[in-house]
Amino acid sequence: MTELAYQHRWVGGKAVGLPAGKVVCVGRNYADHARELGNAVPAAPILFLKPRTALAALIAPIELPRDRGACHFETEIALLVGAPLRDATADAVLPALAGIGLALDLTLRDLQNELKSAGHPWERAKAFDGACPVSDFLPTGRVAGRWEELALTAAVNGEMRQQGQVGDMLFPIPELVAHMSSWFTLEPGDIVLTGTPAGVGPLAPGDQLVLSLAGLAEFSAVVC
Ligand code: ZN
Repeated sequence: MTELAYQHRWVGGKAVGLPAGKVVCVGRNYADHARELGNAVPAAPILFLKPRTALAALIAPIELPRDRGACHFETEIALLVGAPLRDATADAVLPALAGIGLALDLTLRDLQNELKSAGHPWERAKAFDGACPVSDFLPTGRVAGRWEELALTAAVNGEMRQQGQVGDMLFPIPELVAHMSSWFTLEPGDIVLTGTPAGVGPLAPGDQLVLSLAGLAEFSAVVC
C-alpha cells in the first residue's frame, strides 16, 4: 500500500497535527452558481463526500484526469475540523474548526452531466484521486468575529473568474456544518467544503490559478 502524500499544513509550511480525513461537500450553496448551471436553488443542502484519497496539495501541480472529458474548477472555502462534531448545534460549530483555507472541488462535468441524466450517483465525477486540491490553512483565530466578511476570489491566467463572500452563502457555515454533522460525524482532520460561487469552468494544461482568501492569504496553482 502506498502512503498518501497529502498532509494538512499551516500557511508557512508547518504540518498540522491532524490526520487527513474525508471531505464533506455541499452543492449549490451560492444562488448565482446554481443559476449558471441551470439548477434550482435547493431548500436543504445537497451533500456529498470525497474520500481522503481525493486530497492533494494545491501547491503541487494539478493533474487532470486524462480522456475523461471536461474537468471544471470550483473554488471553495475549506474548513479544517479540529474537534469531533456529531449532531452538533450551530453554536458548537465555529469553536470546533481549527483552520480555514481554500480548495478546488474538481468536477468531471461531462461525466457528471451524463451520470445525473441517467439518474446515477455522480461519485466518479467528484471523488476521483486528486479531485480535491487544498491550500495550506490559517488558524481560525485569524477570522474570529469576521466570518461574514470572508471572501474568496479566483483568477485563471490573469482573468478574474470567481468572487464570493461567506455572507452570500445560502446555508451559513454554522448551520451548514451542523446539518452535515447530523448525517456524517465530522472527525478531527476532516475537511468541509462550503460550495462555489458563479464562474466555474474547464481547466486546461498550463493554466495558472491565483486563489485568494481576500485580505488574508493568496495561493498559486498550476495545471500540468
Ligand atoms: Zn463544489
